[in-house]
Amino acid sequence: MDRLAIVVPCFNEEEMLPITVTQLGEVLTDLWDKGKIAKDSYVLFVDDGSKDKTWELIEGFYTKHPYVRGLKLAGNVGHQYALTAGMLAAMEDSDMLISIDADLQDDVAVMEDMIDKYHEGCDIVYGVRNDRKRDSLFKRTTAQAFYKLMAAFGVKTVYNHADFRLMSQRAVEHFSRFEEVNLYIRGIVPTLGYQSDSVYYERKERVAGESKYPLSKMLTLAWNGITSFSVKPINFLTTLGLVIVFFCLIAAVYAFVSYGSGNVVRGWTSLILSIWFLGGMQLFGIGLVGQYIGKIYLEVKHRPRYQVEQYLKQDE
Ligand code: UDP
Ligand code: MG
Repeated sequence: MDRLAIVVPCFNEEEMLPITVTQLGEVLTDLWDKGKIAKDSYVLFVDDGSKDKTWELIEGFYTKHPYVRGLKLAGNVGHQYALTAGMLAAMEDSDMLISIDADLQDDVAVMEDMIDKYHEGCDIVYGVRNDRKRDSLFKRTTAQAFYKLMAAFGVKTVYNHADFRLMSQRAVEHFSRFEEVNLYIRGIVPTLGYQSDSVYYERKERVAGESKYPLSKMLTLAWNGITSFSVKPINFLTTLGLVIVFFCLIAAVYAFVSYGSGNVVRGWTSLILSIWFLGGMQLFGIGLVGQYIGKIYLEVKHRPRYQVEQYLKQDE
């Protein structure tokens, strides 16, 4: 029988966790009863340096429920790293793992379908939202625009899939060899290969607590997604630069031929405007190239991405 680990990153989730632990417990019991997972399957809560009672709660669940594990990170490192920490910890002793947000906005009911697909031979099963009616209009439109943009930049992503997915142990092992600092997990997973499939569900509203993903974190994630996977912005700039230079040459020839001996003041505005325009373009280009250099700098340092402070694990 295959052992399942459910990995849950948590940041200041004290309002949500009591609900989460019961629901996930029910899911595990149900899957046990149906004989789809091993008895020693478990839920691993990763505390991403929460400031509230999150870790105390996890410790409490750990003593009360045999199926709960807790991993405490030394500080807040963000959702993507926290999830990675959990996945790599669970990789050691699970045959498959499912990652899900602590707020359970993603439907736990489809976990069974994910496991069925795993037994049919899939190594990766994506949870895909088939509607976003419950998200705010702003979140919905920006998210959708983002997926389209990613596609345009040539980054392989699964449309409307966040980080709710099942991965087999060997897929996680493969993932663990991606040691990059600018981490965008849902961009990496489709590049792993292996047989994959999707299950569909309706995304729910957050029942308790509020979103831990403010606009700034969302923008950082989106920016990481694009710049960590695509060099198209740089290619675009190079082409644009060439086109502008070519255009200026034509314009210069034209001006020389038709206004060679004309009034000096004429054309001052257009001249100064084009200087500003080109200056702006150059600054923009330099800045963008700088973004990539900044990333190279970070990668080269090869810093550890997180530090585990404590790992609560029931004795075998
Ligand atoms: N999260 C985390 N570290 C952070 C921010 C968020 O581990 O710095 C977790 C959070 O506890 C939740 C998941 O990431 O389990 C997704 O966050 P949230 O539900 O707030 O995002 P949203 O659904 O609003 O995009
Ligand atoms: Mg959420």
